[in-house]
This record gives sequence, structure tokens and C-alpha cells, in this order.
Amino acid sequence: MAHQTETLAKLKKGNELFLSAKSNPGDVSPAVRKDTTVNGQHPATIVVCCSDSRVVPEAIFSAGIGEIFVIRVAGNVMLDTQMASVQYAAGHLHSKTIIVLGHTHCGAVGATLAGGAHGFVKILTDEIKAAIGDEKDEYQAVVKNTLAGVNAIKTKLADDHEALTPETDVLGAVYDIETGKVEWL
Ligand SMILES: [Zn+2]
Repeated sequence: MAHQTETLAKLKKGNELFLSAKSNPGDVSPAVRKDTTVNGQHPATIVVCCSDSRVVPEAIFSAGIGEIFVIRVAGNVMLDTQMASVQYAAGHLHSKTIIVLGHTHCGAVGATLAGGAHGFVKILTDEIKAAIGDEKDEYQAVVKNTLAGVNAIKTKLADDHEALTPETDVLGAVYDIETGKVEWL
């Protein structure tokens, strides 16, 4: 269950601002660069999302430097390297809000629905296929793939009490690349 934390409220507000924004109000100033260099990073949020160039987490949530630990991979699948990145950020940087962010018109999900891919891309479409099963609807497939990622984090990190604490939220959401809106699952 999601806590309505300050972090989550800020992300929701940031997405609201983004819907009509022409530029990102997030702090990317020399001052914040200096602060995060000297004092290190303490990102409150981890976002696992697709590499799609239309899906830009800092813009979507009106965030700046040091706020979001972003893990990007085509199709936002949770393979071992993604899981390792989540485990690191949650365990060592103490990020308490973990979001798997799927998106509409995802090429990796589309390729999976179309029968899969070959070459290295097959690694991604096989993973997505395992998550969506026989689902045919593109949006529902995105939802299922996203929730599979959430479930993988909760299951595989269940015994790591440094990474997943009672205060940690692991949430799924879908970003609409046309409207800019994040739908929380
Ligand atoms: Zn995608």
C-alpha cells in the first residue's frame, strides 16, 4: 500500500505542473551541483523507466539535479542489472519511493505484441512476454509489464531490509506520452 508521503505528494504536484509547462522548473543551478558534489546525493525517489526519448522523468515530475535516481532500459524491464541499481539506491542512498514507470506507445511492448524481436532485443521482449502473457491490448500490456516490475522488486528484495523498509513504497505508474499525465496504478 502506498503511503501518501511528502515525496509522493511532490511527485504528483510536479506532474501537474508539467502538464502545462514549457520548460522544467527543476533546480539545475550551479548551487545545487555544488551542494550535491560536496554533500553527496540523497534522491528521495527511484524511477525505473523506458529509454524512450519521449519519457523524461525529471521533466515529467518537474524535478532537478539530485532528486530522482533514474534507471532506464527499453521496455522498463527488471533484469538483474536494473534490480541491482534499485537495490543500491534503496539500500545505500535510502530512497524510499520506488516507481516503475511504464508508458503509452512503448515500442518494446509493441514489438512483444507483434511477436517479439531478435538479437539482443529478444532479451527485452522475452521478459515483457513473460509479464504480459496472452494480453493483446497495448495499454493493458503496458500495465501488466509495469506491475510485473513492481512485483519483481517487492519479491526479489523482500529479504533486503536495508533496501525495502516499512516506510518504502514500491509503486507502478503509466505515463501518457501525449497528455503528459502520470496515471498511478
Ligand atoms: Zn518504451
